[in-house]
Amino acid sequence: MTALPLAPPLSIRTHCPYCAYQCGMLVGDGSSDAPAGVQGDPHFPVNNGQLCIKGWTATTLLRHPERVTTPLVKHRGELRSASWDAALDDVADAIRRTKAEYGADAVGFFGSGALTNETAYLLGKFARVAVGTANIDYNGRYCMSSAAAGGNRAFGIDRGLPFPIDDLERADVILLVGANPADTLPPITQWFERQKKAGGRLAVIDPRKTATAKLADLFLQTTPGTDLTLANGLLYLAIEEGLVNEEYVAARTNGFDAVRRVALQYHPAHVERLTGVGEPTLRKLVRWLGTARSAMILSGRGAEQHTKGVDTVHAFINLALALGLPGKPSSGWGCLTGQGNGQGGREHGQKADQLPGYRLIEVEAHRQHIADVWGVEPDSLPRKGKSAFELLDACGPSGGIRSLFVMGSNVAVASPDLNRIDSRLSSLDHLTVCDSFLNDTTAHAHVVLPVYQWAEEEGTMTNLEGRVIRRRRVARPPTGVRGDLDVLRELAERLGHKDKFDFAAPADVFEEFRRATAGGTADYAGITYERIDREDGVFWPCPSEEHPGTPRLFTERFHHTDGRAKFFPVEHRAAGEEPDAGYPFFFTTGRYREHYNSGAQTRLVGVLAKAKPRPVLQIHPAAAGRHRIGAGSKVTLESRRGRAEFAADVTPEIRPDTLFAPFHWGGREAANRLVGGFLDPVSRMPEFKLAAVRIVGAAG
Ligand code: SF4
Repeated sequence: MTALPLAPPLSIRTHCPYCAYQCGMLVGDGSSDAPAGVQGDPHFPVNNGQLCIKGWTATTLLRHPERVTTPLVKHRGELRSASWDAALDDVADAIRRTKAEYGADAVGFFGSGALTNETAYLLGKFARVAVGTANIDYNGRYCMSSAAAGGNRAFGIDRGLPFPIDDLERADVILLVGANPADTLPPITQWFERQKKAGGRLAVIDPRKTATAKLADLFLQTTPGTDLTLANGLLYLAIEEGLVNEEYVAARTNGFDAVRRVALQYHPAHVERLTGVGEPTLRKLVRWLGTARSAMILSGRGAEQHTKGVDTVHAFINLALALGLPGKPSSGWGCLTGQGNGQGGREHGQKADQLPGYRLIEVEAHRQHIADVWGVEPDSLPRKGKSAFELLDACGPSGGIRSLFVMGSNVAVASPDLNRIDSRLSSLDHLTVCDSFLNDTTAHAHVVLPVYQWAEEEGTMTNLEGRVIRRRRVARPPTGVRGDLDVLRELAERLGHKDKFDFAAPADVFEEFRRATAGGTADYAGITYERIDREDGVFWPCPSEEHPGTPRLFTERFHHTDGRAKFFPVEHRAAGEEPDAGYPFFFTTGRYREHYNSGAQTRLVGVLAKAKPRPVLQIHPAAAGRHRIGAGSKVTLESRRGRAEFAADVTPEIRPDTLFAPFHWGGREAANRLVGGFLDPVSRMPEFKLAAVRIVGAAG
């Protein structure tokens, strides 16, 4: 018998390209140009060898036939292959021309939570130094900004989880609010399983009975947009039942009296009328939280992507503080970050109001520090620019942004009010998109620059715990494709700023980036590539190479100057748009396990596309019956902004007044055509999770 040759061992440690869980992976052995398989890294302490189906299939895209491998430049309305020099000249000319005619702020930049820390940092520097525009933001504004704003205001710092992930298994109670990690971060369920095995309890708040809700010991099926009310109602009962930790509140916080006064207006009957959750359930939950030795409240996009997203975050932080949870072992408030580098992406300067290290662009001392690192005058740095949706909505002659540069984001699927955004994008004088595949956004582009994928680049990412990890080059990029850093260097040279962008490798960018973050809130100064390899990642803040990093925050003090956390009184208010006689249903959106963000990549992976070939609308049997909708019927929904089509799934797992569809598709199946551009006043987060819609067609 002839022995079959053994497959070479997978041995290079890197991380999944997709979500913020950043599962450790073993990919390739260095001998293949494009490794065909991956294995979960059993030694990475976050996923412990587990991956979801997206991770298992991640290498499929490296040599995908639809990959763009040559720059494309629009000629007579068509994108045609061009040399790199011609394409880069075209982009640089457009930037120069726009600046000359309309000023630097007429050039916009739109980044991504998928970029490495090195690229995010350099993109921010490029926009501000090489171009001089204030208008740079990124798709993380659509993801984490409400949680970030709430965390910053309450604790003085924004880090998704203030503790390492293994704290979950030791929590007596975990409350998930508007989060469905069993679908969005499947390997995290190992921690819930261990927690439950040890006798812990899991509670879930969601308008849908999601895969995560099915794991729960207590499920609260709320009316969309009422999480804040529910949190205030829980605080009312905590006060009534004597569960407030008065000693902790007095020693570690400010502002509880005002919050107590507001909470006492949230009688359970009032809360039940708004949320649909009755007093016995509320009382049970608050007793669990208030009497446990350890309890944590974790929020997700379902609670945060609202016009009152920041206030909702505050309402749950208020509850956590009143119960004395933050800073205790396996306790506190945290949020489950969405995008791969959603955390690092917002710390290092691609956000309209921030400079690297979580410095603020309007604070003079912060500007001075970054200006010194960059070798420019502080006054030359632009001020705060437009937030993501406002930036896109300002594209074209009426808004003033005439040229846009997009890196790693499919904004023509990921944004709200897509019909409006489509028309804004098509009225630009010039649009550059850096990506690996053509998508709905490149359909509007004048230039497409084909760039490396995750497995072809080096750099760092920061996961949902605040752990800084390394992305490794495990594949050779196809001929004709370049890295993000090369693109920025080449453009900077054409714009006369070569000296400030002349980095040979990501490691060189990282060295400057460490200096830029030194002394900032998100301080990476003590983190090196070598330490990350040696220590399985390093948690920021880490101000020096001797510092061990900070896996657990708030044990002694919060990050406000006086060391105390702040309560914020918050009140229920209506959404940007509520259902009415004309548009009677709540519409809400979310993710499939098989797809990631706009689906531009995962819809190209055969296994994933086969498992979830199209978006399915969840509708309750009572609503379906009224509209003669059966399983598989084609349903057209309409909001005040547009229409979208879905196949129906008739299920009692959703509330009768609510419809749900995933947002991973564009075109006529784009859920975001229905969603409005209503923004949270603090975070500028669009209200993705609530729109008013009606059913205008059903067939089949
Ligand atoms: S998509 Fe997220 S959960 Fe799935 S393998 Fe990748 S990092 Fe892990």
